[in-house]
Amino acid sequence: MEKELALDLIDFLYTSPTAYHSVKTVKERLDSNGFSEVKESDKWDLQKDGKYYVIKNDSALIAFTVGNGELEEDGFKLIGAHTDSPGFRIKANPEMVAEGKYLKLNTEVYGGPLLYTWFDRPLGIAGKVSLKGKSPLKPEVKLVNINKPLLIIPSVAIHMNRSVNEGFAVNKQKDALPLLALINEKFEKNNYLVNAIAKELNVEAESILGFDLGLYEIEKGSLTGINEEFISAGRLDDMWMVYAGIKALIDSKSNKSTKVMVCMDNEEIGSLTPQGANSALLLNILERIALALGKDREELHRALANSIMISADLAHAVHPNAEEKHDPTNRPVLGNGPVLKTAASGSYSTDSYNAAIFEGLCSAANVPYQKFFNRSDVRGGTTIGPITSSLLTIPVMDMGAPLLSMHSIRELATVIDNVYSVKLFTEFFNA
Ligand SMILES: [Zn+2]
Repeated sequence: MEKELALDLIDFLYTSPTAYHSVKTVKERLDSNGFSEVKESDKWDLQKDGKYYVIKNDSALIAFTVGNGELEEDGFKLIGAHTDSPGFRIKANPEMVAEGKYLKLNTEVYGGPLLYTWFDRPLGIAGKVSLKGKSPLKPEVKLVNINKPLLIIPSVAIHMNRSVNEGFAVNKQKDALPLLALINEKFEKNNYLVNAIAKELNVEAESILGFDLGLYEIEKGSLTGINEEFISAGRLDDMWMVYAGIKALIDSKSNKSTKVMVCMDNEEIGSLTPQGANSALLLNILERIALALGKDREELHRALANSIMISADLAHAVHPNAEEKHDPTNRPVLGNGPVLKTAASGSYSTDSYNAAIFEGLCSAANVPYQKFFNRSDVRGGTTIGPITSSLLTIPVMDMGAPLLSMHSIRELATVIDNVYSVKLFTEFFNA
């Protein structure tokens, strides 16, 4: 059963190479579990105990089940996570020729990937393509996923870079461009990529007006370790928490509170987009839910005053080869359960009040828990927790399952922490 759950997570990650495909994967799971889509442009008619979701920009999704209590008294219970992960995006006019023979693609870096992990690996291309529509103001949108080993970023041989193992700097414009093809006499180097996408989508190349395409590792995740205790896969940050939250929402029992699973895009670049956490999106959707249930704005604000949220994003476990990088007394490890993250700087939204709620929930779910603080001389990261907490003005606890190799093309987690995450989130929604 634990292994089955881990394999299900690996499947979920495999079908989610970009934020767009993440949303598609989540949508398919919700559709087959009785949820129905409501569109921002429609008039909403919601029922108590009803199950719904709304999609923004094809890359963010908010799923919710309406409680059977009164919204202003029973509030919202939210879990928030993000659909995007660091990597490469392809620029417009991407074809570049080297030595008259190599065709490479011009890319830019999205977020903060561990760049060296992207070298010498077969990469696929996936994302969203905008096509000529019925009117210039309404382009048609299609997702594309060329799930083949198309590209590779080749390393420079050690013989030409003798000090490479003492550390090497990657120039994003020069060193990290992926190789796509060899040029021969019949070769059409112009619009090579657009032609390939058009062929894949079975449309005219001229109808493609724009694209948001990224690179991804085509190899599927796997269980590793002598007892298959580890999960090695790309995009665990943060699709793992999306997976666990969506599963908990689907599996949880109906009760008085309205449960919301928030899957935001663009966390890795600061969240300031219409589909990111630093936008009016979540508050707008919560307001729409209140209005559709016949509540007024005062009742929405009363509901918010009775609401609580978990910001679920992964936590650094102590690294077996870099134990000195961690705080001396708060030392989470893989396999020991969810990690509560706190920072005096406010880069995590946890405080003692929501920490107490977190500990109570873990005890009730029979799940062990751990705590993370940055070493005082290390800046550390942040999450959607502080942004969401400020926009909604509600308590948000910042937590996540423990992870190694965060932002590597392949990150490392454990089978048991996946079980703990689903149990904790289900307990939260059922509480
Ligand atoms: Zn993250």
